[in-house]
Amino acid sequence: MDTPVTLPQMLDARERRVQLQQTLLHQYKKPVISFTMNIAGPVKYIPLISRGFHIGLERLECALTAAQLPILEQVIQEEVTGCQGMFVVDGEPTLLKTLCIQLEDEDHLGRLFDLDVLEQAGGLSREQMGFSPRPCLVCGQIGKGCASRRLHSVEELQQVTKQILTQFFAHWDAQQIGNLAGKALMYEVCTTPKPGLVDRHNNGSHRDMDVFTFLDSTAALLPYFQQAVELGQQTAQLPPEQTFQKLRPLGVAAEKAMFRSTGGINTHKGAIFTLGTVCAAVGRLWNVCGALPSPASVCSLCRTMSKQAMETEFQHIFHAPTTRGGQFYRDYGIKGIRGELAAGLPSVMQIALPVLEQELSCGRTIEESGTVSLIHLMAAVQDTNLINRGGLEGQHWTAQQAQTILKEPITMETIANFDQNMIARNLSPGGCADLLAVAYFLHLLSSLER
Ligand SMILES: [Zn+2]
Repeated sequence: MDTPVTLPQMLDARERRVQLQQTLLHQYKKPVISFTMNIAGPVKYIPLISRGFHIGLERLECALTAAQLPILEQVIQEEVTGCQGMFVVDGEPTLLKTLCIQLEDEDHLGRLFDLDVLEQAGGLSREQMGFSPRPCLVCGQIGKGCASRRLHSVEELQQVTKQILTQFFAHWDAQQIGNLAGKALMYEVCTTPKPGLVDRHNNGSHRDMDVFTFLDSTAALLPYFQQAVELGQQTAQLPPEQTFQKLRPLGVAAEKAMFRSTGGINTHKGAIFTLGTVCAAVGRLWNVCGALPSPASVCSLCRTMSKQAMETEFQHIFHAPTTRGGQFYRDYGIKGIRGELAAGLPSVMQIALPVLEQELSCGRTIEESGTVSLIHLMAAVQDTNLINRGGLEGQHWTAQQAQTILKEPITMETIANFDQNMIARNLSPGGCADLLAVAYFLHLLSSLER
């Protein structure tokens, strides 16, 4: 990694490349596409460049597949002297060259791709095909001979290369992470049975929503979760509290999008708050090539981001509660989801996530593991959604029922019975459901490949 290559190494690599090309051309008598990364300076191989190279490989394969051009053989090599891919393709050389030029000119990373089409007679140039030469990476000018006249320093070229790759992958990863938040919400609503909550079997204690209402809302929230990650990435240099402040208008917009998509029904207000903050925290901790952040670091950052703002809010609420949640705080000192976030999501870190992972490792399905995790949450968490419907009495009854279930080996039948009893009492642990969604998200994040 970060190893500068010597001139003999480069010459040797070039020699081997030419030999491989000749072998493939001779063997197949078909054109060969040679794909390398356009990297200035003596360091040719770092993880960031490799990531870009793999995107290029996929783009090239997709372009060839879409044009119905069969790949007869491919040789992929990643060495300290650089990344290279050779593709023997059964196609007309000028058509292949046109596809390659389109990738170079139009793809987001295309400026970093070098795609040559080789025949036994030699290579095809852009100019031969009637295309203009490639613009300079730094100044964008064409035909100024920036490279041959060394008008830009190696540092300048490296800087631009790093910037192109980092911007690309910031957006790419934000999209993937944002989608995981959506996936976590879908896992949560589909997890069945869930006492009192909307699941695949019934609408729990709810009369105005079903699984489809949740799917409507989840689809509407996908852009928000991506924006939250991007906000985290963009504000990573600012104090954590500022990321949280800047997230608020995005959260308000997300609530509006939710209400529009559900016809005015509140499906995910809690999730917008918690998962949105979690996504922003992941964005702050994001690194273009390092590992994705651990659940513990994400939750601990949520605490730093939100603690001060939540304390201020609690002070205001205490004097003039405007919501039911606010009244619970004033009357009983119950802080609900705000308190949970300001404490670094302890119910997720100490209950929901470890139980989920434990049940999975014992061979339960993700769905059953989610159900068990939810029962553990219901046994321990003071859920303001529960209190809202059934008062403190309803909350205590629910927690006791859940604790009793946990004393015996858990079966889905027992939980389905619990579901019926919760419905009969019109109780719904919406707060626990939001925490389960966060646990699902952190679990999915830790197994995300990129
Ligand atoms: Zn230039």
